[in-house]
Amino acid sequence: DLEDVPIVISGLSKRYASGFTAVDGISLRVERGQVLGLLGPNGAGKTTTLRMLMGLIRPTAGQVRVFGHLVRPGAPVLSRIGAFVEGSGFLPHLSGMENLRLYWAATGRGRESAHFEEALEIAGLGAAVHRKVSTYSQGMRQRLAIAQAMLGLPDLLVLDEPANGLDPPQIHQMREVLRRYASGGRTVVVSSHLLAEVEQTCTHLVVMHRGRVMATGEVRDIVAGGHGYTFHVDQPERAAEV
Ligand code: ATP
Repeated sequence: DLEDVPIVISGLSKRYASGFTAVDGISLRVERGQVLGLLGPNGAGKTTTLRMLMGLIRPTAGQVRVFGHLVRPGAPVLSRIGAFVEGSGFLPHLSGMENLRLYWAATGRGRESAHFEEALEIAGLGAAVHRKVSTYSQGMRQRLAIAQAMLGLPDLLVLDEPANGLDPPQIHQMREVLRRYASGGRTVVVSSHLLAEVEQTCTHLVVMHRGRVMATGEVRDIVAGGHGYTFHVDQPERAAEV
């Protein structure tokens, strides 16, 4: 029953008005509880894929289904997706908590419970939620942006390059945050251009290059070359070697 499957992507393509094909016929399926890493170098088509998944842009061909529902701009199923977008603009003179409350009010979903405490606890911000955002480190801002994406505890959390600008200890903490979020049967999709950033975080990987899927599977199989060849995940153009 597709209603139980967080993401089914079939034959998805995006050709921009410039004539450039950023995503070229990809298909994949993501199950509940997975932390899926979308991995590939800059320009591989990760952001374009995530934007189609979040209903921000329309595919040229193919489709995305989230819990069985077709994704398109304005589709009701989009309320089940929490999105982290790089550089979320927080108001520096307000506290983290105040920023989240303002954001939630702006979504117009006021009557639904936002689960502020739970989102903040999972994101691990602690007492810092009551401090002004201007005092936050880069890592704390990322955590706040992740907490913002978690408001309402969406079934599906989508994060575009959440490890950008984080140092290794902060990346390690993010791993705990995302794994914990998915452990309750929720699903997380995270993009990165560096294997090292996501190999500890993800349960599964999709490796993209030039708009196509080069490999997909459990992280350990892809890293170990379980497909019968040595896979250079950070250099997908060498995938066909060996
Ligand atoms: P990055 O990490 O750089 O964001 P990415 O894997 O997320 O890489 P995309 O952002 O999806 O890749 O971009 C894929 C390709 O599509 C890039 O070559 C980019 O220049 C191109 N592209 C993105 N947006 C547009 C647009 N609006 N019009 C034309 N080309 C675009």
